[in-house]
Amino acid sequence: MSRIRRNNDWGFPRWREYGSEKETVTVRLCDHQGCGLKGDFPAPKSPHKPEKWYFCEEHVTEYNKGWDYFAGMSDDEAMEHAKAEARTARGFRSASTWDYGDAHADGLTPSERSAFRALDLPTSATGDEIKTTFRTLAKQLHPDKNPGDAVALARFQAASRAYEVLKGRT
Ligand SMILES: [Zn+2]
Repeated sequence: MSRIRRNNDWGFPRWREYGSEKETVTVRLCDHQGCGLKGDFPAPKSPHKPEKWYFCEEHVTEYNKGWDYFAGMSDDEAMEHAKAEARTARGFRSASTWDYGDAHADGLTPSERSAFRALDLPTSATGDEIKTTFRTLAKQLHPDKNPGDAVALARFQAASRAYEVLKGRT
């Protein structure tokens, strides 16, 4: 087995030993329930808090997709945060799911664009499509069905907020 670089940021309970008896290192596991991969990608547990989850690449992508980091902020504030995160974040890929340029070219606010992304819908989706997609997602991701699953919870919350933003559309 190849040598795995040690993660400097300790303090989370799930670990596994890797390597030969000569060079054993302990690495952090992905925090997604049941995932046995390395958790190299930090993602904030909640907005503006230092606590982080550590996920594998697949799960951080899934988590970030559902993550509505900008909930509760005005669009201008959200843009500032997005820019700051894009400069500093490692692993947390807000920048890749957030458009900075010509934010109003399609007549949508950043909140609305973010909401379409959280529901995985094109911005051309109709009100009926938005409603159907939200109901399907809410059923799949409901915390009662996914106890202890941080990814499902984040996506459920993001989908709920996204629906609040978009539900008035026709
Ligand atoms: Zn994982």
